[in-house]
Amino acid sequence: NCIVYWMRMNDLRIIDNRALAQASARAVSDSVPLIVLFVLSPQDYVAHDRSKRRIDFTLRNLRIIKSSLTLLDIPLYTIMHTTRRTLPERVLSILQSLQTTQLFANIEYELDELRRDIRICQLAKEYKIRPNFVHDKCIIEPGVLETKNGKAYTVYSPYQRNWIATLNSNISTYLDSSPIPQRNSIIVRQHPIFGPLFEIAVPDFVDGFKLEDIDKETMQKVWPAGADAAKEVLSRFLHTKSRVSQIGAADPLASEAEVSEKRSRVIAYKDVRDRADRDTTSRISPYLSAGVISARECVRASMVLLDITKVEAGRTTGVGKWVQEIAWRDFYNNVLASYPRVSMGRPFQEKMADVKWEVNEEHLNAWKQGKTGIPIVDAAMRQVNTMGWMHNRMRMIVAMFLSKDLMLDWRLGERYFMEQLIDGDLASNNGGWQWSASTGVDPAPYFRLFNPYSQSVKADPTGDYIRHFVEELKNLRGPEVHNPPVKIADKLGYPRPIVQHQEVRERALRRYKTPGQE
Ligand code: FAD
Repeated sequence: NCIVYWMRMNDLRIIDNRALAQASARAVSDSVPLIVLFVLSPQDYVAHDRSKRRIDFTLRNLRIIKSSLTLLDIPLYTIMHTTRRTLPERVLSILQSLQTTQLFANIEYELDELRRDIRICQLAKEYKIRPNFVHDKCIIEPGVLETKNGKAYTVYSPYQRNWIATLNSNISTYLDSSPIPQRNSIIVRQHPIFGPLFEIAVPDFVDGFKLEDIDKETMQKVWPAGADAAKEVLSRFLHTKSRVSQIGAADPLASEAEVSEKRSRVIAYKDVRDRADRDTTSRISPYLSAGVISARECVRASMVLLDITKVEAGRTTGVGKWVQEIAWRDFYNNVLASYPRVSMGRPFQEKMADVKWEVNEEHLNAWKQGKTGIPIVDAAMRQVNTMGWMHNRMRMIVAMFLSKDLMLDWRLGERYFMEQLIDGDLASNNGGWQWSASTGVDPAPYFRLFNPYSQSVKADPTGDYIRHFVEELKNLRGPEVHNPPVKIADKLGYPRPIVQHQEVRERALRRYKTPGQE
């Protein structure tokens, strides 16, 4: 007999992991060993446009987790399963061979994953296994918060007010840490079918994904794996007074040790978070998306910092503003779970399904490669292409540029982001794209179009961000870097703008105002 915890791509940690903690408690009370299972599912990764960087990050984290679990005499057994349709049966037959009585896993809120888990529940009885699916990803799980009319929220501000009030009146329910798993007292060294469980290594490949294509050295340096690395990233944000960056060569800030900032970085966050030319945000998203650190831990750490017993979530303080961003993450997961159509490539606002998009491969490729001739857009796209990460304001700028200036279908951008991002997460990515394309919940009003040039001046006042990522402009000083005159651009080999913002703006306004009319 044994208990199995099925670790998923979104909960790659041992500390403060609810399903793992419950599985361990059950194993101890039943006096049976705990085994951790991880299933690599290449077809799911293809279907969900998973980036190679994210897959590589998963494998790197799994290796660290395997060593930590081995110290607790808990085996991590990783398998690869090629046909996603048969994954529930495969998992259940493995559990049966391991003589598992109970399965524990944290819930994934994406539609395909919910369907998979429902299938597991339907079949589990046949296999004499009791499944336990646990909420863990969000601070307040989807479905708890409702409007006064008992509906799911579609506007962030009232959601966030309810979120903070609910949280503060039930702090321990939502923020208490789960205990780490206990050491196995019975050790399963050798399994008759699966062999020596402790010795089965985490693979260094996933079928169909050429992981060797990514710049692994840069990724390891910029995004080191493991719980300790996540803690360091968080602590650097909460406690470091100067903005000296730990980020590697691909980042403009590594060489920019700015020591004038005397306040903790999170305190300054309120005022400077939209600046991309400085290291102004936490950069914890890859770790939160992969669950290397829990969102609870982030909020708890912010309370420890201020020595407060209630969660701070107001716009007027740095910590409050930052916690509000974590509430955005819960909000988009709530939307995803409440309105499954957003998982299915459909706009939240159904009428926006009729917006007429351009079909223009050349423009799409220029956007992807960072060769649009609009420096801020190009810098941001080159950042994601090299680092697998992009600053939030930049995500908004490039998403609006694609869906409004180029009038290309936002889903093309959503997909490209997932293929590049190390922090790719369906709920937040879809939420961000639908916000930018004005098709989602609580969207940017369609008539409020970002002017990429004025956004550039605000988000990159020094021009350092552009100069770092756009090689052709690296020596261009002064404000011209935001919109280089044609003569200079030609001389430097930098492309001319593929569209004129003032001209295409009108087209977007027309098409968005009356979807389906043009
Ligand atoms: P911080 O500013 O330090 O915020 C802390 C944490 O709060 C983040 O790590 C993240 O978990 C959460 N958060 C912050 N802003 C948002 C937001 N707008 N929506 C949801 N959660 C938020 N975030 C992802 O994690 N994965 C994605 O795939 C993703 N795609 C996006 C696509 C678009 C078009 C847009 C506009 C936003 C997207 N975001 C996504 C949200 C946001 O840009 C990133 O979470 C943020 O830039 C990560 O940097 P950080 O950790 O330094 O953030």
